Amino acid sequence: ENWPQIHGNITFQNVSFTYEEGEKVLENFNLEVKAGEKIALVGETGSGKSTIVNLLCRFYEPTEGKILIDGIDYRQRSQLWLQSNLGYVLQTPHLFSGTIRENIQYGRLEASEDEILEAAKLVNAHPFIMQMEKGYDTQVGEGGNRLSTGEKQLISFARAILANPKIFVLDEATSSIDTETEQRIEQAIEKVLQGRTSFIIAHRLSTIRSAHRILVLRNGKVIEAGSHRQL
Ligand code: ATP
Ligand code: MG
Repeated sequence: ENWPQIHGNITFQNVSFTYEEGEKVLENFNLEVKAGEKIALVGETGSGKSTIVNLLCRFYEPTEGKILIDGIDYRQRSQLWLQSNLGYVLQTPHLFSGTIRENIQYGRLEASEDEILEAAKLVNAHPFIMQMEKGYDTQVGEGGNRLSTGEKQLISFARAILANPKIFVLDEATSSIDTETEQRIEQAIEKVLQGRTSFIIAHRLSTIRSAHRILVLRNGKVIEAGSHRQL
């Protein structure tokens, strides 16, 4: 496949979505995001924040309507194309059985030790990893070391950033994330998101405040939008 240079413009065009079970979660959702723009999604639980980013990550596809990246329906691209251009940290992050190093490296087998460490440092995951007895060789995932959701998110964050994606999604964990981890994520966001189109679902106002645009959702609809100053 030809790998065209991606800019990171994103359009949700009349997107409706229904999970296999249940009612319509999104109906005629429209959103235009320019390359490099940082969008924060806020709204009460169940308002559709994760659904929007899960659609963007193509874990699900729109029931109706389209999602365009740089003007092209993402269904015309391969999953591999999206994987190399979009990084994500999910609300319930998944680590596979292996070491922390392997979990950060993931599909990028060509990544050097230096690049792995650099990614971990950039997202502030390095300090907590070094606090563990075996550091980057710590076994995680099934049967491995039990990590908190926040720690798993930090490892996912390092994994996502190692691939240097143009588009980045962070769906911060709602619960079981301690203040220290939250602060680490918050500090990392500022550094890491420069020059990337990003969707951030966060709970701290300080994280949300720096977004170019904040969308307030209710029942799958944007009820308010603007910068922090405007809202
Ligand atoms: P939270 O702040 O709790 O993370 P959210 O804004 O991310 O909430 P979503 O997870 O997008 O909300 O959920 C939107 C709606 O879709 C809710 O009514 C929810 O119950 C429903 N929903 C979410 N995931 C599924 C699923 N896998 N199957 C069926 N319904 C789902
Ligand atoms: Mg959610």
